[in-house]
Amino acid sequence: MDAMAATHSPLHPPFRLLMGPGPSPVEPRVYEALAQPVVGHLDPYLFEVMRDIRDSLCSVFGSTNEMTLALSGTGTAGMEAAVVNFVGPDTKVAVLSNGYFCERIAEMALRQGAGVVRLERPWGEGFEDGAAEEFILRERPGVVAFVHGETSTGVLQPGAAICTAAHEVGALVIGDCVTSLGNVPVQVDATGIDIAYSCSQKGLGCVPGLAPLTVSPRAVEALENRSHRVPSFYLDLLLLRDYWNGAKYHHTASASLYYALREALGIIEEEGLEARFDRIARNHEAFVVGAEAMGLEMHVAPGWRLPPLNAVRVPEGVDDGALRKHLLDSAGIEVLGGFGPLAGRVLRIGIMGAGSTRDNVSLLLEGLEAALAAQGFPVKSAGVAAATSFYEGR
Ligand SMILES: *Cc1c(COP(=O)(O)O)cnc(C)c1O
Repeated sequence: MDAMAATHSPLHPPFRLLMGPGPSPVEPRVYEALAQPVVGHLDPYLFEVMRDIRDSLCSVFGSTNEMTLALSGTGTAGMEAAVVNFVGPDTKVAVLSNGYFCERIAEMALRQGAGVVRLERPWGEGFEDGAAEEFILRERPGVVAFVHGETSTGVLQPGAAICTAAHEVGALVIGDCVTSLGNVPVQVDATGIDIAYSCSQKGLGCVPGLAPLTVSPRAVEALENRSHRVPSFYLDLLLLRDYWNGAKYHHTASASLYYALREALGIIEEEGLEARFDRIARNHEAFVVGAEAMGLEMHVAPGWRLPPLNAVRVPEGVDDGALRKHLLDSAGIEVLGGFGPLAGRVLRIGIMGAGSTRDNVSLLLEGLEAALAAQGFPVKSAGVAAATSFYEGR
């Protein structure tokens, strides 16, 4: 026996109920797809799988865009591809900034040497149509960026007014749909988003590793006429288009991840988009009813909430780290805390994708109740009972 064989221990990841901002729970069918035999990145079978992925992504994105693909990499790769391909040193970028991920886009644009202007709102608020329009018409940028589902705060930002104003000044719109895709309607074409990207592990219920992306014909034209040299080879969308359309080698894409994404998208198609969005909205509402019954407060005002990502304020005198540790240790439930100005002030609870179920809402409310009680927080009334009444229409 060699030393390696003697010391290697089997892998035993713990089972976690993933109720944070992502990754979300993965269905067994998706894990089974991952275990299928790998084919080469230029195998005709893989291109069939990629065509299926493209068709399904078009339907979830609500788009007929020909340039629709899945990048190798996580949501951040989607963001980076959007920025490096469409933002050059001479581009003026207008960022609607109200959270961590909008600021990450701004940071990437600055790294391209671009000029960045911001319209800011406190973390947890959204942009009214009028204010967004006034900002864009005044600044006349070349690119406008906004985050559709801001996972750092739990705000859902409608995009139609932003896109209309942007197009009026000839700007392209980058819309971050990382948490919204597959969880809430995205409607890329109807909204007017030119470059929308997402990830595999939040609303789509796949494992992390791929970044769906879709580009409007107008943005493809800009890509073909771009004047700056794209500093990334890996994320160059024209090279990736040649791979997806022309079977031309660019990088060794992971067949396993494509299988998994195809399966996850198949599950979404079987459920139906409307049914999925209704399920996710309803479980979000039940959770809010339960959390409020316990005496907790939501961070985001009604009307601005992102159903898959529930930002709950940490009550005065309660330690959010201890709360999260209690949930993880006693119930195996993962939720995360806040970033930046919201650090220590909110819990970020994901009720998304396959994880959005009535059972999971109950487990969460029970777990939270026990964790809060352990810290001496006076829980007002049982959250599960309130959620049950909501589900049963009482
Ligand atoms: C998660 C997330 C990202 C980054 O995605 P990764 O998969 O973590 O790289 C970007 N934007 C938003 C809104 C997100 O929620």
